[in-house]
Amino acid sequence: MTESEQQQVTVLGKMLSAERRDGCADRVADSGLSAFIRQWSATAGSAATLPAVQRAIGLLVGYERMTHAERDQALATAIEELRSLFRTNHPTPALATTAPVTLPSLAPRRTSSRQERQRLASDKHPLTDLDLDAKLDQIAGVDSRTVASFRRIGVVTIRDLLYHFPRRYDDVRSRRTIDELQVGAEETVIGEVTDVRTIGTGPKLRVRVEVSDETGSIEAIFFNQRWIAQQIRVGQTIVLSGKVTVFGGKRQFTSPRWERYTPDPDALLHTGRLVPIHPLTQGLHENQARRLIKQVVDTVAPRIPDHLPPERCAQAGLLPLGEALTQIHFPTNHESLAAARRRLGFDEFLFIQLGVLQRKRLWQQEMGLPFTIDLQVHAELLRLLPFRLTAAQQRAINEIFADLQRPSPMARLLQGDVGSGKTVVAAAALLQAVANGFQGALMAPTEILAEQHAKNLKQLLSRVPVPRRSSEAMDGEQYRQTDWRAQLDPEEAARLNEIVQIIGMTPEEDMGGHGVRVALLTGSLGTRERRRVLDGIARGEIDVVVGTHALITETVQFARLGLVVVDEQHRFGVEQRLRLKNKGCNPHMLVMTATPIPRTLTLTIYGDLDVSVLDERPPGRQEIRTRRISRLEREKAYRHIRKQVAEGRQVYVICPLVEESEKLDLPSAEEMYEKLQHEVFPDLRVALLHGKMSAREKDGVMRAFRDHQYDILVSTAVIEVGIDVPNATTIVIEGAERFGLAQLHQFRGRVGRGSHQSYCILISDSDNQQSKERLAALEQTNDGFQLAEFDLQLRGPGEFFGTRQSGTPDLKMARQGDTRLLSEARRMAEAILSDDPALERPEHALLRRRVDAFWTEAMRAG
Ligand code: ADP
Ligand code: MG
Repeated sequence: MTESEQQQVTVLGKMLSAERRDGCADRVADSGLSAFIRQWSATAGSAATLPAVQRAIGLLVGYERMTHAERDQALATAIEELRSLFRTNHPTPALATTAPVTLPSLAPRRTSSRQERQRLASDKHPLTDLDLDAKLDQIAGVDSRTVASFRRIGVVTIRDLLYHFPRRYDDVRSRRTIDELQVGAEETVIGEVTDVRTIGTGPKLRVRVEVSDETGSIEAIFFNQRWIAQQIRVGQTIVLSGKVTVFGGKRQFTSPRWERYTPDPDALLHTGRLVPIHPLTQGLHENQARRLIKQVVDTVAPRIPDHLPPERCAQAGLLPLGEALTQIHFPTNHESLAAARRRLGFDEFLFIQLGVLQRKRLWQQEMGLPFTIDLQVHAELLRLLPFRLTAAQQRAINEIFADLQRPSPMARLLQGDVGSGKTVVAAAALLQAVANGFQGALMAPTEILAEQHAKNLKQLLSRVPVPRRSSEAMDGEQYRQTDWRAQLDPEEAARLNEIVQIIGMTPEEDMGGHGVRVALLTGSLGTRERRRVLDGIARGEIDVVVGTHALITETVQFARLGLVVVDEQHRFGVEQRLRLKNKGCNPHMLVMTATPIPRTLTLTIYGDLDVSVLDERPPGRQEIRTRRISRLEREKAYRHIRKQVAEGRQVYVICPLVEESEKLDLPSAEEMYEKLQHEVFPDLRVALLHGKMSAREKDGVMRAFRDHQYDILVSTAVIEVGIDVPNATTIVIEGAERFGLAQLHQFRGRVGRGSHQSYCILISDSDNQQSKERLAALEQTNDGFQLAEFDLQLRGPGEFFGTRQSGTPDLKMARQGDTRLLSEARRMAEAILSDDPALERPEHALLRRRVDAFWTEAMRAG
C-alpha cells in the first residue's frame, strides 16, 4: 500500500467503525452508508482496487436492506478485511518509510459537548459506546470495587463478563400464596412487608422481615445483613425466593433472595425465575454482580457479531451467538438454556477442532519423505520374532506403512493399553526408515524407559540385515552377502568400527555392516563416547537413536532423520512436536500412548493425529486379580506376598509420595522399605527405588530386581513407566486413593507380563465416595478403555491425567463426554477448512480471531 492508499483506507475504516459503534443504524453517513461507499470508491483512486478493499465493499452491498445482525456481521468482517492491510505480515515499501499507521479505531466517538468531554476525561462510557475488549472500569456507573473483585476471578473485559457463565441456576419460578408454601421446596412468594426488625448484635445480628399476603404471613430471616433493615420497608411489596424451612414449629425463609416487586415478570432478576448463580469472589455481592451482568448482557449481547455465518448456524441447528449468550445468563426456560449450552459448547469444540486440524495441515503441508516399503526386510523381522503378531498389531503396521509411503509426513497416534505390544510396531516402522536409508529416533519420557526401549529395539532388530549404500542396484539375497564394508575408505571403516564398539554390537549383530545400529543417548554416557555418538548421528553412521525428549531440545544433529517415534506418556507437548520439524526434513511421526484415552479426549488432545488402536492383547495373558483392602488388613497382603515369593515370584510395593506433614498417615517408600526388610520379611531380599536416586542408581536397582537378586521392590511412583519384569506377579499399592485411575492402571500393568497368575492389591482407607468408586472400578475391570471413560465421567479431563496436560484447552461449557456435539463440531471444522484452509475468507475473519484467541489462552493456561 502506498501512503495515500493507507490514508484512503483509513477514512473508509473509520466510517465503518463509527457506523458499527452507532449500532448499525445507517445514520452516521449523511446520505447512508451505501452512498458514502459509492462516493469513496469514486475518489479513493487505487485504494479502491485493493483486493481486501474490494472484498470489504462487496460485503456491504445492499447494506440498507440488511437486518441489524447482518449489518453488524458485515461491518465486523469488512473492518477486519481493512485491518488486514495494516498487519505487519503484509510489509510494503511505503510502510517502512512512514510513521506507523493508526488502525481504524474502534475507540469511542469524539463529541464536543462539555458533558461528553468530561465523561471521556474520566474514561467512563455508556455501555452502548464500548466494544467487547473494553475494560469493565470503562463502563459508566460501575464502581472500582466491583471491577477489582471481578478482576480477581479473571474477568477484566466486557467479553470476559459475557463468558463468565453461571455455575448453576436456581429454579424459583413456582410462585405460591403463603398458605401453599411447601417446607423443603424452593419457592417464590409475593407479599407486603408488615414488619421489619433487627434482633441481636455482633455476629448474632439478624433482620427479621414479616411478609403477608391474603392467605397468611411468613417470616424471612437474614443473618448478618444489617443493611437489609434499611432496604426493606414496611408497606413495600417484595418478592422472596428461597427454600422454605421450619424453625420453632413455624415456616420461614432463611436468607432468601429478594427484590422489590414489579408487575413485569421479565424484569425479575433475582427471584421468581431461573436465577443464574455466577461464580463470585469476596467483595462481589451476588445481586450487584447479577445486576451488572444483566446490564451488560442486555446491551451488548444483541449486537455481538457472530463468528459463525448464519447459514452454518442454521444448518447445525445452533442459536445465534447473541441469543445464546443472553439465554445462558438469563434463561427464559430450561429449553432455551439447553439450546444456549449447546451453542456455546459447540463453539468450544469447534475452536479446538479448527485448531488441531489446522495444526495437522501445518505438519503435513510440506513435502515429506515417502518411503518404499521393503517387504523383504519386514518379513525377516517377522521371521525372527519369538511370537506372532496379533491382528491388531498387523492392522496398525499396515496403517503405518500406508502413511510412510505417502509424500506428506505421517502424523499418527498408536494407542494401546499397557502390554498390548506397541514396541514391536514401532520397531517395524523404524526398520523401514533404516531400510530406506534414513535415521529413526525414539524418544521416551524417562531415562530408564529410554534404556529399556533401546534394549528391546536392539533385541528386536539385532539380526535383521538392512540394505546399505551402494546396494541399491542389488536385489534379494545379494545385499546380505556383499562385503559392503570393503567398499568404504579405511578412515570411514575405522570410524564405523569404533561406533559399532561403542554401541556394543557383536559381529553377529553387525553382519558386515548390515545390522541396524541402535544407539542410546542418555546422561549416563561418558563425555568422549557421547561426543562420538553425536558425531555418528550427524554422519548417519547410527541408524536409530533412543533417548529422552532431550533428543529434540538439545543440539543433536541428524544426517537424515526420517521417522520420529515418541513414547508419550502425556509428557510430550504439541510445541515439542512442532519443534521436531526443525530437526529433520519433515520426518514421519508416530506417537505412542499407553493410557487408553476416551475418544472425545483423543480428538481434543490428539486431534491433529490419525489414530491406530491396539485393542487386543497378545495371547495367553490372564486377567490381573485386583482387590482393595484396608490398612488394618495389610497382614493379608503380607501373607499373600510370602506365598508368592515362596513360589519363586517377585513383588512390587508402591508408596505414594508423602509430604512431611502427612507422615503419620501414610508411610513413605523409605519407611515402608525399613519396615518390610527389618520387621516383616527379614528373611527376604527387599530393594528400594525412589525418585531422588540418580538414574544410574535406579537403573542398578531395576536391573538387580529384573535379574531376581531381590524378591520385593519398594518404590515410589517412578516405577510407573513401562518396566518389564515377567516374573513379578504381585503389585501392592499403598494409599491407592492418592493416584489417578489411569496411573493405577499403569502400575497394575507392571505385573501380568509373564505366564503366571498376577495380582494387584490396593490399600486404601479412604471414605471418599469418589475414591471408593474409582478403586471399585479397578477391581471390576482390566480394560483400560473402560476405566478411562469411567474416570473421565467421574472427574473430568484435568484430573484424568493427574496433572494438567499442556495444550489441553479448558472447556467451560462443553462436556467432554458429549461425543455427538464433538463430532458435529469436528465435521463443521472439516467443512470450513476444506473451503478455506487458512480461514482467510472475509466471512471467517472473526472466526479466525476467536480460534487464535482461544488457543492463545489455552497455551497460556497449560
Ligand atoms: P506396551 O509397550 O504396549 O506396553 P510392549 O511392547 O512392551 O507393550 O509388549 C509387552 C510384552 O508383550 C513384551 O514382552 C513383548 O515382547 C510381548 N509381545 C508383544 N507382542 C506380542 C505378541 N503378538 N505375542 C506375544 N507377545 C507379545
Ligand atoms: Mg511400552
